[in-house]
Amino acid sequence: MNIYSVAIDGPAGSGKSTVARLLAKELNITYIDTGAMYRTVALYCINNGVDTKNRKDVVKALNSVQMDIKQENGGQKIFLSGVDVTNEIRSQRAGAGASDVAVIKEVREKLVDMQRKMAQGMSVVMDGRDIGTNVLLNAPVKIFLSASAEERAKRRCGELDKLGLKYDFESVKKQIEQRDFNDMNREFNPLKKADDAVEIDTTFLSIEQVKNKIIDIIKQKTGMK
Ligand code: C5P
Repeated sequence: MNIYSVAIDGPAGSGKSTVARLLAKELNITYIDTGAMYRTVALYCINNGVDTKNRKDVVKALNSVQMDIKQENGGQKIFLSGVDVTNEIRSQRAGAGASDVAVIKEVREKLVDMQRKMAQGMSVVMDGRDIGTNVLLNAPVKIFLSASAEERAKRRCGELDKLGLKYDFESVKKQIEQRDFNDMNREFNPLKKADDAVEIDTTFLSIEQVKNKIIDIIKQKTGMK
């Protein structure tokens, strides 16, 4: 099998993006972070005074969102109207806004269409909430990562620390739980383990251990040596 895709889904802070990035590097294939795309739509709304909870206004704004994604040094950079917003979209506000705009059908249709085009004709590791259940239905490898809410909040705080962003642990945890609820209960493409996905609970595993487990699954499913 020359071209294959790896779909990784799971709730906020389950380790998806860290592990997906490492996998892409080790396998020398492209990493696509779909959460960054929802965050970028949210950032556009925040910067332009559009309420992320107002469906009509977000849909109206959607046509003006000029998003470009580039692969650089094995990582993904994301640009909004030509400006690199890769770090800016990691803020808690953009995360909460992303979860708001992600319930809107038109937003999902636009981003899912872009994601499918990006994955065409090449091997990718793509992470998100609906990759195995919707975006890449035929992916030969589907992984669903989970972890306790406490552990996921700790990890998210670690990321915010690295970016020098301020936070309060309890509010980060509450936001994660709120996001889980939104993501699992929305009408269109809710967060859910695909029937053919392998679930890995990462609560007590290191990133390296998770990565190695996934590499074993990839070898098994694709026949790769
Ligand atoms: O993964 P990340 O935390 O960056 O995602 C931000 C938000 O974007 C999620 O909480 C979810 O609401 C939304 N999302 C989604 N579908 C995806 C990726 C992200 O709905 N494939």
